Amino acid sequence: MLIRVRNLLIAAVPFAALLLGASLTADEGMYPISELGRLDLRAKGLQVSASDLYNPNGVSLVDAIVQVGGCTGAFVSPDGLILTNHHCAFGAVQAASTAQHDYLTDGFFAATREGELPARGYTVRITESYRDVSSTVLDGLADEMDPTERARAIEQRTKAIVAETEAAQPGKRAEVAEMFAGKTYVLFVYTYLRDIRLVYVPPRAIGEFGGENDNWMWPRHTGDFSFMRAYVGSDGKPAPHAPANVPYTPRRFLKVNPDGVKEGDAVFVLGYPGRTYRHRTSHYLAYERLVRMPFVADLNASQIETMETLGASSREIALKHDARIKGLANVMKNYRGKLRGIDRLDLVKRWQQDEAALQAFVDADPELKARYGEVLPGIGRVYQETVRQAPSELVLGALRASSLRLTNAYRLYEGAIERQKPDLQREAAYMDRNSAQLLESMRQALRDFHAPTDRALLGELLRRAAALPQDQRIPAVDAIVKGGDAGPAIDRFLDQALANAKVTDEASLQAALSKSPEALEQLGDPWIGFARALYPTFRALRETQQRREGTLSRLQALYVDAKQRRQSAAFLPDANGTLRLTLGRVRGYSPADAVVHLPFTTLHGVVDKTTGTEPFTSPARLVELAREGAYGRFAHPALGDVPVAMLYDLDTTGGNSGSPVMNARGELIGVNFDRTFDATINDYAWSESYSRSIGVDVRYVLWVTGTFGGATRVLQEMGITP
Ligand code: ASP
Repeated sequence: MLIRVRNLLIAAVPFAALLLGASLTADEGMYPISELGRLDLRAKGLQVSASDLYNPNGVSLVDAIVQVGGCTGAFVSPDGLILTNHHCAFGAVQAASTAQHDYLTDGFFAATREGELPARGYTVRITESYRDVSSTVLDGLADEMDPTERARAIEQRTKAIVAETEAAQPGKRAEVAEMFAGKTYVLFVYTYLRDIRLVYVPPRAIGEFGGENDNWMWPRHTGDFSFMRAYVGSDGKPAPHAPANVPYTPRRFLKVNPDGVKEGDAVFVLGYPGRTYRHRTSHYLAYERLVRMPFVADLNASQIETMETLGASSREIALKHDARIKGLANVMKNYRGKLRGIDRLDLVKRWQQDEAALQAFVDADPELKARYGEVLPGIGRVYQETVRQAPSELVLGALRASSLRLTNAYRLYEGAIERQKPDLQREAAYMDRNSAQLLESMRQALRDFHAPTDRALLGELLRRAAALPQDQRIPAVDAIVKGGDAGPAIDRFLDQALANAKVTDEASLQAALSKSPEALEQLGDPWIGFARALYPTFRALRETQQRREGTLSRLQALYVDAKQRRQSAAFLPDANGTLRLTLGRVRGYSPADAVVHLPFTTLHGVVDKTTGTEPFTSPARLVELAREGAYGRFAHPALGDVPVAMLYDLDTTGGNSGSPVMNARGELIGVNFDRTFDATINDYAWSESYSRSIGVDVRYVLWVTGTFGGATRVLQEMGITP
C-alpha cells in the first residue's frame, strides 16, 4: 500500500512502504539491508537466514563487510585481515612504491606483521546502523517551493541530522543516503578505521593480468585480489597510523572456504554498489548517450595517451600517472560498453515508449493527470537546458580536474571562502568533518604532480574552452586569450604559471590552508589567481546545478510515484553506495549468436594467454608451477585445474569491486571484481540473459598467495592449510 501524496506535498514515504504489495523477484535487485526480511532466501538456494545476514541486535555477516578504497572488502580473520581487489589497493601500492621498490610491478609481501606497509590515505568503513529519516528531511517542503531553496533545504536538513548524530555518537560518522530522490532518505552510521596496511599484493602481472585489454571482458584470467589489514589504537578505538597500533578485532569475519563452488551453485554478494540509474528517464539517458559519455570517453582517451607518452621514459614519472591512467581507462571502456549496450538494446527508445505509456495511463485519469501530468515534460525541460549548456559545463568540470596544480589552487581558494561560513553552511568538502580527507587528497595531488603533464592536460582543456560558442564563454579563459590567437596565449600563460607557482610542497600547502582569500591572493601564485578568476563561473554553475537538482528531486519523486501506481513489479532503489545484497548463481551465458561463455577460467588459460608482451606477461614461476601441475588442494575437481575467474548472474555495479562472493552458507568463495562488456549496461537495465559479473575464484587467491607467493602466514591466519 502506497502512502498517497496529499495536497500536492511530497510525502515522506518510509522506505519499506515502497515495497509493500510489490512482488519481489530476486533476479534483478540490489536489496538494501532493510529489505532482507522480505526475501525468500531458501527459495533462492541460500542456507542462511535474514538475521544471519543482518542482525541489528547481534553479530551477522554484514559486520564482516567493509568499504575500502572506494570498493568493498571483507574481514577474513580475527586480526583485521581484509581481502579486497588488487585494483582497490592499487592507489596504496602506488603510493608505497618507488622506482627502487616497485611493489606495483613486483608485488608485496610483509613476512611479518611489523613489515606491513601503511596504505596511505586509506580508510575502512564499517556499517553500524541505519534509520529512515525521510520525514525529518522532507516534512513541510512544499511542492511550489523555489527549486534552489528546496535543494538547499534538503541539504541543510541532511547536514543537521549528520551533525546531531555525530555529536551524540563521538567517533562515528553519519551519512544520509538518498534512496529515492526527493522521497526516501536513510541515515547510516559508520565506524571509520584509519590505520590500514598492505599485507600481500600479487605482482601486477597477476593482479592486472590482461590489463585494459581484458578489462570488462570475459574470458578473464586476472588475479585481481590483495590482502590488507586494519589497525586501531591499543584502546581498540580508530586511530591514525602509529607503529604501536594493534590489529583490529572485527565483530565478525568471513570463513574462507578453499573448496570454492561449481557451476549452478547459489552465490550471493554483500557490498557497496556505487550508482545505478534505473529510475531515471529517457531524457537523462539520451543526455548520457549523446552528450556526456562520448565527451568523457574521448577526453579520457586523449589524456591517457598524453600521460603514457610523458611517462614512457621514466618509471618514476609513470608511477605518478599509474593510478590516474587506470581510473580514466576504466571509465572510458565502461562508457564505451554502455554506449554500445544502449544502442544495441535501443534503450532510449524503449524508455521513451515506456514513458509514453505511463503518460497515457496518467492522462486517462483526471486525478492522476492533475498530479502527474506535467512530470515527464518537466523533467524533459531540465535536460533540454542541460544539453544546451553542456559544451561549457563539461569543459569547465574537466578543466579543473585536468591539472593537479589547478585542482589544489581551487580547493585552497574556495576553501578559504567557505571556511568563513559556519560549518553547516559550507560546501560539504570544506566542513570540518572532511578536512582530513581534503588534506590527504591535496597531498596526493602534490605527490603525483608532474609539470609537463599538468601543462599538456590543462593546455588541451584551455584550447577547448577557447573554442566554446560565443554565448557559453568562460571569462577567465577569455582573459588569457584576450581576443588574440588562443594557442600562443595559452602557452604563455602556462609557462609563466608553472614557473611562478608558490604552493608547491607540503609546507607551503599547510601554510596556505589557514589563509583568508585575501591573504591567498597576496601570495602571488598564478594558479590561485586563475582559480580566483574561475570562481564566479563555478559558483554560477553550482547554483544552476542546485536549481536543476531541486527541480528534479521533486519531479523524480512524483515520477516514481506515478510508476508505482501503474506497475506492480519489484521496486528497489537505485544503488547509492549503501550496503546491498544481491543473489543468484554461478552461470555462463551466450553473448552472441553461437557463442557460449563457460563460467570458469583456469590456470592453464593464464599460461595459454601469456605471450610475454604486455599486458599478457606472467611471472616465470607461475608458468613453471602451472606446467608442473602444482595445484595442491586448490584444483577444481571437474576441471582438474586451478580455477582463476568465474561468472555469476548477480546484480552488481562499480563499488561492488572487492565484494566477497559467498556460497549458500555465507562462506567466502571468491572476490567480485568486474562485469562483462555486455553487463556495463546493468547501470540502466539489468537482464538475466546478459548481466554477468566476474569474480576471482578463492582457489586462485589462495594458490597465488600460498603456492606462488609463499605467503603461508596469510593462509594460516585464515585457517587454510595449503
Ligand atoms: N570494476 C568495478 C569496481 O571497481 C566493478 C564493476 O563495475 O562491476 O567496482
